[in-house]
Amino acid sequence: MTQLSDRVLNMATSATLAMAAKARELKAEGKDIIGLSLGEPDFNTPDFIKEAAIQAVNDNYNSYTPVDGYAELKDAIITKFKRDNNLNYKPSQIVVSTGAKQALANIAAVLLNKGDEVILPCPYWVSYSDIVKLNEGIPVEVKTSIDNDFKLTPQQLEAAITPKTKMIWYSSPCNPSGSVYSKAELRAIADVLQKHPNIIVVSDEIYEHINFIGGHESMAQFDDMFDRTVTVNGVSKAFAMTGWRIGYIGAPKSIARACNKMQGQVTSGANCIAQRAVITALNESPDRVQYMIDEFKVRRELILSLLNDLEGFKTNVPEGAFYVFPDISHFFGSTLKGKRIENATDFSLFLLEHANVATVTGIAFGNPDCIRISYAASQEQIIEAIRRIKEAVS
Ligand code: PMP
Ligand code: GLU
Repeated sequence: MTQLSDRVLNMATSATLAMAAKARELKAEGKDIIGLSLGEPDFNTPDFIKEAAIQAVNDNYNSYTPVDGYAELKDAIITKFKRDNNLNYKPSQIVVSTGAKQALANIAAVLLNKGDEVILPCPYWVSYSDIVKLNEGIPVEVKTSIDNDFKLTPQQLEAAITPKTKMIWYSSPCNPSGSVYSKAELRAIADVLQKHPNIIVVSDEIYEHINFIGGHESMAQFDDMFDRTVTVNGVSKAFAMTGWRIGYIGAPKSIARACNKMQGQVTSGANCIAQRAVITALNESPDRVQYMIDEFKVRRELILSLLNDLEGFKTNVPEGAFYVFPDISHFFGSTLKGKRIENATDFSLFLLEHANVATVTGIAFGNPDCIRISYAASQEQIIEAIRRIKEAVS
């Protein structure tokens, strides 16, 4: 039998992708599954972006691109950072990658040495911890509380820092909690980091536009943080372009150069047609995709009001992204339809089996008391899913 590497054997399978695959499989078997597991907009990519891609095919964009992205795309990203975030990056600070996921993998690969610690406020996005471990870093999970909207406090950060701390990674709006850090909250975190000048911040802002409170805040906006923050972003979420696989960073020059070198050996750069389409996407005003955000907002109200009526589901009010992350520990120790529920994974599997609704266990996000429900689904699907869940748990 082939002996696989310890690296891959020690790696967890992406729980979000695994649950989506399982739901797909069950659907193919004829089961009526409602998939609320994957964080993927259920909209089509807007026509103006599709047209740019078709034009690029017809214009014979078929060659390797510069490893770190077309110059025009880097210009569009610089314009976007300036317009939306008031950040002033130079072309040498931008790297385009095959999704924000690869951008994160690059960052870990170029910054981590064995044993370096990365602080991950919990809940964190599912892949952070395995990307860190893959690069021999140590994820340091810091538990946050639902009563504090799952946000890291300055005191918690201070307590988690050790001489081995290399980075802190977080997303705002947060996948999976939907929490959005305010400017004052980011400043308070920055104040702690002032005492620890070698720690790099990785600010994952991929849900930037899916924000229901208005006003996205970037860590790099603070002059004293700009040179030690990597701003990660991408088009998967706001532009409904998950499959196009384009993400990017704005970073200190040395980190950007290293990421460029890394992907020069691993992928040679992101897909050329997708890059051309993203030039168009980013050069347009974000208003062009506001209709999707408006719809996510309506769905958020809907799912929150439906969950409110469900006993045993304690939920914070997500201010962005398209997830709710209810604490369902109320059910631990109980038996539902003959199935013993000991943890969030049992509960999520119970919902798949007995309600035909796919969710994701909170364990994958570093929080064993919760499950993640994506509301990137139609209102009818949301209503039906919560009805089924209610029936299954009652
Ligand atoms: N960061 C977060 C917080 C995410 O939810 C996702 C999900 N796709 C990513 C990064 C990666 O995005 P992509 O690779 O599709 O750009
Ligand atoms: N980010 C999405 C999610 O959390 C897509 C899946 C993935 O990339 O893991 O569900």
